Amino acid sequence: MAKVRLESWIWDRLHERMPREELGYLQGLRLAAAVRRAYERVPLYRAKLNAAGVQPADIRGIDDVRRLPFTTKDELRDAKPFGLLAVRRTEVVRVHPSSGTTGKPTVVSYTHRDLALWTDLIARALAASGVRPGVVLQNAYGYGLFTGGLGFQYGAERIGALVVPAGGGNPERQLTMLRDFGSGVLLCTPSFAATILDAAGNEARDLPVAAGIFGGEPSSEALRARLEAGFGIRAHDTYGLSEVIGPGVAHECAERSGPHLYEDHFFPEIIDPETEEPVGEGEPGELVLTAMTREASPLLRYRTRDRTRFLSEPCRCGRTLRRIERVSGRTEDVLTVRGRTVVPQEVEEVLLSMGELEPQYQIAHDRREDALEVRVEVADTIRSDPERMGATLRRSTAALRARFGEGARVQLVPARSLPRSEGKAKRVVSM
Ligand SMILES: [Zn+2]
Repeated sequence: MAKVRLESWIWDRLHERMPREELGYLQGLRLAAAVRRAYERVPLYRAKLNAAGVQPADIRGIDDVRRLPFTTKDELRDAKPFGLLAVRRTEVVRVHPSSGTTGKPTVVSYTHRDLALWTDLIARALAASGVRPGVVLQNAYGYGLFTGGLGFQYGAERIGALVVPAGGGNPERQLTMLRDFGSGVLLCTPSFAATILDAAGNEARDLPVAAGIFGGEPSSEALRARLEAGFGIRAHDTYGLSEVIGPGVAHECAERSGPHLYEDHFFPEIIDPETEEPVGEGEPGELVLTAMTREASPLLRYRTRDRTRFLSEPCRCGRTLRRIERVSGRTEDVLTVRGRTVVPQEVEEVLLSMGELEPQYQIAHDRREDALEVRVEVADTIRSDPERMGATLRRSTAALRARFGEGARVQLVPARSLPRSEGKAKRVVSM
């Protein structure tokens, strides 16, 4: 089946290509309005701002953002479901409780205007990946509470694309639908894309899909390269988080060199998570976002716990919105083994740089021996040859030890023996 032809385009030329000086002025106005609304309508914000000695009138430009106190995930959890609402409860038309993988869920509320904004931002993202009227888009993000399902659905319909609301799971049926509908774009988590690729086997490159929009979990460049080569597609990284709005916070253009952040709505800062001070230009740190235009739930300096850095060189696509490096991990997934920091996506990078390993792995911290246990699948062709098995084990152990120290251990397991991701992958397991 021939690949669908896709061409990247710009949905919102005014805002996506706005001169930086004008953008800064717009951000200043939006920040001042957001702080005023939060102060007047949300008791928690009023108390926090008073404690920090900041009044709404003190916010005269975007640089004043640094005077505001941070907001943490714990505060959102404690305030659920409606403690941070800046509108009347009856103006809320949708809620999305977050997945709550690491504790109590948080609840995000949307007014009609919030949903319209979200839809528009998703349309921006999809246009950057070449979605236009008539293109068939298969949305394999989970529908329901997870924001990837409904979020992308509305944005794609706004453009006029045809959406197959496949939802997560069932890789075989995903393949049937990709073929039957001639889906040109596949949306899902990178780990679920790897599961579909695995199920497709040799015919993956013959599928009509020409672009993948992958996000919702941190992943490595090495996995992107595997998915691009495997399906014969261009993979666009997409970024968002439900506490802020859902997907539609940042998205890659045709250059695919880090997602452009929608700074006209979400003011970004990158800080050192320990000192809470801004990092140097281009240095990695924790992303902090201020949602300046959210009606139901404005968010001031929200600590995302996502690790990234700014890429400030102008992009060839013409967008003036700054890019960030693809998110390289969540702080809660980071392990410390024998004093070394281990980010799961860095393990992935090392494993996939060796051609013979599959993108299916689990890592665990063996606390008794303070060791990093890595289980990774090998292809059947290698497993059936003891000599190649031995060589692969030696090479992968050496590569991991070179990066993470002598505490790293590898276990090669048969293909298709680890649990497959049908949504967000669970890379770190306990043992
Ligand atoms: Zn660009």
